Amino acid sequence: MDLYCSYKYWLIILFVLISETTTIFFSIIDYLQIEYFRKYLINPKKQFPNKNDMKLCMKVNIKTYKKIIFPAFFIGIFICNTLDIDPFKCDDYNINRSIPKTIIHILSSDYLFYILHRIMHLSYFYKKYHKQHHEYKTTFALVNHYIDLNELIAFLFPIVLPAVLLNVHIYDL
Ligand SMILES: [Zn+2]
Repeated sequence: MDLYCSYKYWLIILFVLISETTTIFFSIIDYLQIEYFRKYLINPKKQFPNKNDMKLCMKVNIKTYKKIIFPAFFIGIFICNTLDIDPFKCDDYNINRSIPKTIIHILSSDYLFYILHRIMHLSYFYKKYHKQHHEYKTTFALVNHYIDLNELIAFLFPIVLPAVLLNVHIYDL
């Protein structure tokens, strides 16, 4: 097992944390109700979210990370390390090969995400899973992961499946 490559799997967790920086930034503005940023809103009359609603959404966000997102990463890393699977080979990275693959990955991932979201708006799935996500008519950053845990598992597939099938390099994710 190449330790250097193995170590790189752990950078995925850092990648996830970096991807949450916008949520953290906008949530700080909402929580402290910083009026300075109001001029950048599409609707400047929009109210700041209620602090209790923010706390509830934060609790659900933490739960999604504890119960689904981080375990999914740990299981993936464990399987790759145990079975010596090396989906993100570090020694044969070629940017010319990666660009078209990355474009296909973005388009297919986005399309699958769109189809799954449409399915979630069918009456049965909406009532059973998706209703919670649309509970707040005036949305805020933390609502992104204010989601039923079963639904979150389903929404991992449009992100993970095209990346695995296309063998997308970690640099391009
Ligand atoms: Zn929806």
